[in-house]
Amino acid sequence: MSKQAVLIAGGAGYIGSHTVRLLNAEGYHVVVLDNLVYGHRDAIVDEDVELVIGAVGDKALLERLFEKHQFVGVVHFAAFAYVGESVTDPLKYYRNNTAEPLTLFEVMSDFKCTNLVFSSTCATYGEPERLPLTEDHPQNPVSPYGKSKLMVEWILKDCDVAWGLKSAALRYFNASGCSTDGRIGEDHNPETHLIPLVLQAIKGEIPELTVFGTDYPTPDGTCIRDYIHVEDLASAHLSALRHLIEGGDSIQCNLGTGVGISVKEIIDTAEEVTGQKVPLKYGERRSGDPAQLVAAPQMAKDLLGWEARRKDVRSMIETAWRWMSAEHGGHFPK
Ligand code: UDP
Repeated sequence: MSKQAVLIAGGAGYIGSHTVRLLNAEGYHVVVLDNLVYGHRDAIVDEDVELVIGAVGDKALLERLFEKHQFVGVVHFAAFAYVGESVTDPLKYYRNNTAEPLTLFEVMSDFKCTNLVFSSTCATYGEPERLPLTEDHPQNPVSPYGKSKLMVEWILKDCDVAWGLKSAALRYFNASGCSTDGRIGEDHNPETHLIPLVLQAIKGEIPELTVFGTDYPTPDGTCIRDYIHVEDLASAHLSALRHLIEGGDSIQCNLGTGVGISVKEIIDTAEEVTGQKVPLKYGERRSGDPAQLVAAPQMAKDLLGWEARRKDVRSMIETAWRWMSAEHGGHFPK
């Protein structure tokens, strides 16, 4: 039997590349479409994965790909994800994250490909009114980044009504860790995420980590987040894709562990894992950061039979450290 083909837009990025490996290992024919603006060619490690360099807004290119392959589904990761930059340059985010994918959805409609897994975010909820965050919590995103993703969630619902697009909007909490075998990992430039910055500070790549705020209404005064291992995220995409291929309905669900970890706990665990001190300073709160973001993870379990296997942040930091301690130092070649 020939393999089922899947298009993975943004498959050379952090979460995308881990999902590409898993889907390839599960026997799909994986075609990656990535413009390599933030993605890395070397994040595609399997030789039988096809990498096409291009944009989700390039209609002619998409038509060629859809003519060549009978995609059973699309997984759409391609997006900009710097929350701070989205505040200073909102149009960049609305154009890239909201407008460009319209072309992808149009071509899917033309070719009657009606299964889409979409990278959404817990940033679509905004400031929590109650915790843990259930999927029916009001969505009032604070940043243009969160808004750019929420608008796509709305568009997907409308496309379901209009032409039967079935989608799984997966609202990620804090993606973290790297592949267990150390071959691929997190390499953002610039890096803004807590765990890689803590490890960079330990390695001396940055002078110190700044803790953004110590006066939050949390037990130790630092922000609490729900960190989820990137390989668990990848397996959720596999489950969501299967759900849609098997005729499941459109869904919107959280991907988190349900466990809240503070910035201070991350620092303490990183010190334990590496046996080294994190050089740090205490700074002001970062604007737009809620005190706590923790997922209610039950819906993904009920709808997809999926739950995070690693709930211990130690394994996330261990894999991230393994990747950063390798010869490449946690960076893909340029
Ligand atoms: N954080 C921090 N110092 C940094 C980067 C992040 O104290 O240099 C904190 C940030 O305020 C938040 C948590 O770490 O509470 C996670 O931030 P990150 O940017 O990794 O993810 P976010 O929750 O913003 O998606």
